[in-house]
Amino acid sequence: MPLVSLREVLERAEEGGYAVGAFNCNNMEIVQAIAEAAEMERAPVVIQASQGALKYAGLNYIVSLVRAAAESIRVPVVLHLDHGTDREQVLKALRAGFTSVMIDGSKYPLEENIAVTRQVVEVARPMGVSVEGELGRIMGTEDNIQVDGQEAFFTDPEEAQRFVAETGVDALAVAVGTAHGVYKGEPRLDFDRLKRIRELTRIPLVLHGSSGVPDEAIRRAVSLGVRKVNIDTDIRLAFLQKVREELDRRPEEIDPRRILGPAREAAREAIRYKMRVFGCAGRA
Ligand SMILES: [Zn+2]
Repeated sequence: MPLVSLREVLERAEEGGYAVGAFNCNNMEIVQAIAEAAEMERAPVVIQASQGALKYAGLNYIVSLVRAAAESIRVPVVLHLDHGTDREQVLKALRAGFTSVMIDGSKYPLEENIAVTRQVVEVARPMGVSVEGELGRIMGTEDNIQVDGQEAFFTDPEEAQRFVAETGVDALAVAVGTAHGVYKGEPRLDFDRLKRIRELTRIPLVLHGSSGVPDEAIRRAVSLGVRKVNIDTDIRLAFLQKVREELDRRPEEIDPRRILGPAREAAREAIRYKMRVFGCAGRA
């Protein structure tokens, strides 16, 4: 199928009361793992690229890989820019063929975040491209940008209401206790806050840093209005653990495919599992 917009996929998720998995990619094997998982689970899927992925693989490679993946399967695929930094970069992604973009103005004060985000909505909407905004700061490390405990703060529900009304975003990333990267200890989500944000905004919410969050917590977040769940670290872990195992098992191996092939399968199985937890399996 050709790529579709995030809005289209989220509208159906809203009707069905489930969340779509948004998986980060940065090479061919991961893109294939995500696409194969989506096809096998009959799940709509978001394949997303962060700043680090674009730097590593190159914008055009990512677009070509994801297009090829989407065209080889029968379920809807969204190509999404993860944590877009500014208007220029978002424009580049739009021209290259992304069907959804995130503009992350969460490091700015509210007024400025609203202004930056609204600008992006104004250019993206006429092109049929969806926009995800972020309010509140999510802890952890994303592509070397570190947000520690003191800088991080949870999304304020009243501010979220204003942010959504004034920007017109299609989806909102919220800070409710998840973190990017690997957790030290078990994450605790602020479900009351999540519920309140949803009541006041009535739009699809996005959970970042969802790797390592217990399945039950994810399911509860989905029941409260989370419609897109971002996963990066858990795929990396599955992929690399298999790479290590295979390298240990056959130290004489000279064919990268014999190492990366099984790693791709391991990543695919990790993704399939997540799709079942999010409720998007069987929905496409
Ligand atoms: Zn994120």
